[in-house]
Amino acid sequence: MTKTLLLLSGDGIGPEVTAQSERIVAALDAGIVTSTARFGGAGIDADGVPLTDAVLAEAKAADAVLMGAVGGPQWSGQPYDKRPEAGLLALRAGMNVYANLRPARCFASLADASSLKRELVEGLDILFVRELTGGVYFGNPRGIEDLGGGERRGVNTHSYTSGEIRRVARVAFELAAGRSGRVCSAEKSNVMEAGLLWREEVQALRDAEYPHVELSHMLADNTAMQLVKYPKQFDIILTDNLFGDILSDEAAMLTGSLGLLPSAAIGEAGTPGLYEPIHGSAPDIAGQGVANPCASILSLAMALRYSLGRPDLATRVEAAVEAALDAGARTRDLGGTLGTADMGDAILARL
Ligand code: ATP
Ligand code: MG
Repeated sequence: MTKTLLLLSGDGIGPEVTAQSERIVAALDAGIVTSTARFGGAGIDADGVPLTDAVLAEAKAADAVLMGAVGGPQWSGQPYDKRPEAGLLALRAGMNVYANLRPARCFASLADASSLKRELVEGLDILFVRELTGGVYFGNPRGIEDLGGGERRGVNTHSYTSGEIRRVARVAFELAAGRSGRVCSAEKSNVMEAGLLWREEVQALRDAEYPHVELSHMLADNTAMQLVKYPKQFDIILTDNLFGDILSDEAAMLTGSLGLLPSAAIGEAGTPGLYEPIHGSAPDIAGQGVANPCASILSLAMALRYSLGRPDLATRVEAAVEAALDAGARTRDLGGTLGTADMGDAILARL
């Protein structure tokens, strides 16, 4: 059956790296129909807003969305609704993608680029499942209140319902089946009520429906420590929005380059997922044809696996990227000289 992939290439290096993913889709010849739409700063310049209703509707109607990157110096400092990043948050909310999947996988040929010693990271393969649409980033009440006498108070609320916890925990437990079957849930149940609820709900769901999953609980501060002490102890790390933001960035640095790391955001089964590199628009190198396209191509692989029903092709694409790296193909960020399209060529040649 035909599947549809919407490309929102966005700003900066976004269009350059997304173009390489588009070449991969074409080469796979798997009946995946791509379309493109304006988004982010490019949307602001053309349409006055980063995300039009029409583009959001298109995203919700597609099987998957592959995003490039948004933002750039020309749009920073604008009012919130005129900022490219506002479009991204509106897209995530509009698509209701509440589970953020971020792999931290270390390619053997690049293990020396890690901030840790090779033996600690070689073979590293962690998958973060981060809650993306709740927690302290979204809880109410929030704001800055004036207490008088020059004193002010900033307020955010860390809040989760059992439903919000269970739906993201379910994603982690389902994914565990295709991996080693181990899930480590990270929170601060010793000092936070929402963290205590998190621990109870995750355990209850596991006991009721996923008895084969090996579940452990770890306080988030200890998780941060364990990640740099012995990262290979982890398989899936399930955590909330705030801790997931921090811990997944920490783990990213264990694997080397920003230009290699993909991500996915998924919601209810049967609804489209949103896939994007974790790097930004990299204005310092935009337009030069030197950006590393691997993160975009590996994001495409995640789309093939989780939204387009082709895990076989996902594995093929990932293997082609790894083979190109093993053969020494390197863009500038990895210490090499290949341009964006050359790296695309190297991967296509091994597909
Ligand atoms: P954002 O706020 O959009 O996340 P950022 O400030 O975190 O952006 P990035 O745009 O991710 O920054 O860039 C950080 C650095 O990494 C820059 O020097 C950039 O050139 C480099 N970089 C990011 N992505 C890539 C890539 N795909 N290939 C090569 N270099 C990259
Ligand atoms: Mg960033």
